[in-house]
Amino acid sequence: MKTKKLYEQDAYLKAFTAQVLECREEERGWMVLLDQTVFYPEGGGQPWDTGVLGEAKVLEVHQKEGLIYHLCDHKLEAGAYVEGRIDWERRFDFMQQHTGEHIVSGVIHSQFGYNNVGFHLTQRQMTIDLSGELSMEQLRQVEQMANQKVWDNLPVEIFWPSPQELETLPYRSKKELFEAVRLVRIPETDLCACCGTHVACTGEIGLIKLISCQRFREGVRIELACGKRALDYCNLVLEQNHGVSVLLSAKVGETSQAVERLYQEKERLSARVLALEEEIFQGKARALAGADQITLFEEGLEPDSLRRLTIALMEVCPGRCAVFSGSDQEGYKYAIGHKDGDLRQLIKALNQTLNGRGGGKPFFAQGQVQASRGEIEAFLAQWE
Ligand SMILES: [Zn+2]
Repeated sequence: MKTKKLYEQDAYLKAFTAQVLECREEERGWMVLLDQTVFYPEGGGQPWDTGVLGEAKVLEVHQKEGLIYHLCDHKLEAGAYVEGRIDWERRFDFMQQHTGEHIVSGVIHSQFGYNNVGFHLTQRQMTIDLSGELSMEQLRQVEQMANQKVWDNLPVEIFWPSPQELETLPYRSKKELFEAVRLVRIPETDLCACCGTHVACTGEIGLIKLISCQRFREGVRIELACGKRALDYCNLVLEQNHGVSVLLSAKVGETSQAVERLYQEKERLSARVLALEEEIFQGKARALAGADQITLFEEGLEPDSLRRLTIALMEVCPGRCAVFSGSDQEGYKYAIGHKDGDLRQLIKALNQTLNGRGGGKPFFAQGQVQASRGEIEAFLAQWE
């Protein structure tokens, strides 16, 4: 005995009545077997349908040896008749994606001879893996041709050819098939063995958008979105671009040039800050020339600036030069140098005593401590 698959004949059936043949309790709920169903079980890359059977929610649907099992959150009486209804929004989304995928795979196969060697469809994402690589120009061509197939509003035909007929048909298939083969044909576009649910006419897909293409195994992995998903994706990108355009007072078609200009401006300012800092550091070093050793607390210096100031001090001071930057609350970053000296003992003790970490070379070290300015000064006083 096999479950009658109502979705195979008519993918637009949303509700149905069926007899409960079996209902057994399992760890995650009740596993329900019906005489017939419109619930699509997971298979062929397409996820299962969700919905309700009577009072029970259908959480998962799986197929095993021709039998379709509905994992439900409530018990159903064996022998009783139940009304079932699938979550149509979820199913129609999968139909738009799946038929769109056939069109794109069919166009790529006929134009470039590559095979679809992997198909992944989830509620959030759809990808296809190809056996060869495509250039950006070729991808644009594929997208254009695939959308033309949508606008041509071609019928999507589903049929079960006889074994004799099957031998004469050049259909795409991922594996050797032994059971009665179900073929999905889109005229002058694609012919593929498939158990999934499809829209009746390609116009229902609305739009096919290729989103990205990355090298994967021997070929590429393409992410794409169809129908409402494609619209949602376009809206997301438009919203982001609009935000950038407002922030940069740039036209929506010129945001990347505006970001480029902003980036160049940032580079110019960084160079200017570096030059001004260097002038300040040299000035401080000149003012301290001749000191035996130096300890400074400076505001807002990044590790690289700390390093450069300490090096400037080491040019004018033969002893220990230590620069700290931070606050009593958040701790201090440090750079400590001693020309021709050996700081290893001091740095080790500093890190241990003041909750610090860091290190470097015998004559120069950088790191940070979790301590107050008073604690740091008291520690250094012991190492005079
Ligand atoms: Zn398919």
